[in-house]
Amino acid sequence: MRTFNLKNLIRPNVANMKPYTSARDEYMGTTSEMVFLDANENPYNNGINRYPDPNQKELKNVLAKLKDISPYQLLLGNGSDEILDLIFRAFCEPGKDNIITLPPTYGMYAVLADTNNIDNRRVFLTTEFKIDVEKILNTIDGQTKLIFLCSPNNPTGNLLDIKDIEFILNSFNGLVIIDEAYIDFSLQHSWISKLEEFPNLVVTQTLSKAYAAAGIRLGICYASKEIIKTLQKIKPPYNVNLLTQEHALSCILNQKKIQRHVDAILNERNKLLSALTEIKCVKKAYPTSANFVLVKMDDATTRYNQLLKAGIVVRNRSNQPLCEDCLRFTIGTPEENNKLIKALKEMKQ
Ligand SMILES: *Cc1c(COP(=O)(O)O)cnc(C)c1O
Repeated sequence: MRTFNLKNLIRPNVANMKPYTSARDEYMGTTSEMVFLDANENPYNNGINRYPDPNQKELKNVLAKLKDISPYQLLLGNGSDEILDLIFRAFCEPGKDNIITLPPTYGMYAVLADTNNIDNRRVFLTTEFKIDVEKILNTIDGQTKLIFLCSPNNPTGNLLDIKDIEFILNSFNGLVIIDEAYIDFSLQHSWISKLEEFPNLVVTQTLSKAYAAAGIRLGICYASKEIIKTLQKIKPPYNVNLLTQEHALSCILNQKKIQRHVDAILNERNKLLSALTEIKCVKKAYPTSANFVLVKMDDATTRYNQLLKAGIVVRNRSNQPLCEDCLRFTIGTPEENNKLIKALKEMKQ
């Protein structure tokens, strides 16, 4: 059984280092009547002349309330990509440790493993895109620090089985990262509610998909206070800029608008899925819990090029394991989806 001890996971250099303390860390008080001559900023106010809050207090408080969690269990990053990189750098010793990923899945895990010189052990999903628990257990060794699970998974679109995930959380002494970039399009509850139960659980979310804010780059990490404290130690002090913090706040406070968008996308997803069943060059549309659908074509690369000629860019995933002849369609506006359906219908056999 699991004997999880976070201290054994943290790289010694990280455990022993002193974090950078910024001017605003040392003094973060009432703003208006103080004179700030501490950070070498330009004093002339234009709305962005001051450094942003390195701890994003206001934004974290709003998020914490919304997600019913302590603000000390949150870390914000320049997209989830930065958060994932911080996790590598805090816990994986280059040239020595390894991680496990489950292809076909999000490409950044492998890129970050390469960047950080960490061995990426690939345990393919089953042909039904489920977790191969047995194989994962056989792949874990004393140097395995992280297992990346993406649910709903990109590019397959399916949720991973709750029981399988729980089994891995219970039997692995490293960290299990559940990437929930698409959770708002699914009916499943977030794994955030299980953080107390599993001290080795890390959940990531993003404003890039359901929140319609890929351009501002905001990723969110949820974990135990101890894990968050470790990541906080090595994050660049001003990693979330002022404009992002401001926009994210207004975006998160406007849940009604987010829900309207999500509902519209889910409606369109149903419409597209049913239209796809009548299209000859489509062999199969896989079930999806995300804002995209993986589709097996008769000949993916030919169809990809034909769509391009029709002015429609989709993602060709046919070189990914288990995704032979597959294209990935993001759900667009009704007009965009109609254009896709029309182009597919008009394709010659
Ligand atoms: C799109 C996506 C993200 C988003 O990353 P950001 O850096 O937050 O934009 C994360 N994980 C997966 C699986 C994705 O598909």
